[in-house]
Amino acid sequence: MNGVISLSEQQFKQIQAEAETAYPAECCGLLVGNIRDDSHRVTRVVPSPNIIADQAKDRFEIDPQIHIDLERELRGSSDQIIGHYHSHPDHPPIPSETDLKMTYGPTLIWLIAAVKDGKFVDLKAHKVNPNAHQFEEIALSITAT
Ligand SMILES: [Zn+2]
Repeated sequence: MNGVISLSEQQFKQIQAEAETAYPAECCGLLVGNIRDDSHRVTRVVPSPNIIADQAKDRFEIDPQIHIDLERELRGSSDQIIGHYHSHPDHPPIPSETDLKMTYGPTLIWLIAAVKDGKFVDLKAHKVNPNAHQFEEIALSITAT
């Protein structure tokens, strides 16, 4: 394991609910937070419409305008975009080949929620290892607040 990402119970439930609502398509969104050493703390979960959900149910694309607006809003603050999340309908919460092709920047955290038959089953966090060009799982911690 290399690092940890922590999110609150409420943020965890938010992603869970979005993943179930989007089923059988993929939900997606951005994770705002801060990083200290290898510890990533989520302060805000920002949902985005999956702008390609009507073309392909097994892919996602975050609305670029939401990304741009968020970057602008966070400029000068102590928080930044630390990653994003999406769901895998009827697939395990591990990054797909398509996911690996879409990676940009080694620092982002990928949260993936697995949904089976419309019900949330699991959430896992991954980070790209820039040397190996592959994903590595990182620990996920759900906190009370
Ligand atoms: Zn995926």
